[in-house]
Amino acid sequence: MFLSILRTGLNFIYPPICLHCGKRRDENADFLCFSCWNQIKVYDPSLDIRQVLKSRMTGRVNIDQNFTLYWYQHSSPLKTLFQNLKYQNRKEIGLFLGKFLGGKIEDSFESGSEPAFLVPVPVHKLKQIDRGYNQAYMIALGIAKKSKKVVIPETDIIIKTRQTDSQTKKDRISRWKSQQEVFGLNPEFTFDLNNRQIILVDDIITTGATLEQAGKLILSKWPKAKISIATLALTE
Ligand SMILES: [Zn+2]
Repeated sequence: MFLSILRTGLNFIYPPICLHCGKRRDENADFLCFSCWNQIKVYDPSLDIRQVLKSRMTGRVNIDQNFTLYWYQHSSPLKTLFQNLKYQNRKEIGLFLGKFLGGKIEDSFESGSEPAFLVPVPVHKLKQIDRGYNQAYMIALGIAKKSKKVVIPETDIIIKTRQTDSQTKKDRISRWKSQQEVFGLNPEFTFDLNNRQIILVDDIITTGATLEQAGKLILSKWPKAKISIATLALTE
């Protein structure tokens, strides 16, 4: 009773606002108003006649199953959610959308006898320090909260490192700038992933190159690992 009076009072002083359109949103609508939520185009693999996702990934890394929530469009309120997740410290958005993804996985994923390992695609350490978190990890956390078919390994399987190129004549700063970020297997992860289900987690698929790189890396060490992917959105 008291709490509900307090909440009503707080809503009067700070009414919940839609992150996208700025209008007042219903208390029961998270982050966006219902009208903005309705503008986000849901990804339905059975209606995707162009099979975009398949064509981006096939032939590079054999993807067992894929889970994607939405189409990413530039004018979409989804873009606002992503920007808040990445640059405005709103990590709870990753957790929230990750739970949707977790529901999908729980309903239709065939994980076999042991839970699948969730592998959030890493961001570089400096970026993570800057931002305080990796958004893909927040999504994975949401998935794991919702689905018992998956776990997040305690030790990261993939890490991001810098690779120095061989042009040693450059000064230190331009040499640092010319270093490429690459994925590497974490030597501290010693578990055998052969015959194990792996779900790569990322916020968005554009070209599919990042997921491909991560998948290839895992298969290079554990060729019998089964790779699936879970992402919030796919660009059109
Ligand atoms: Zn709105």
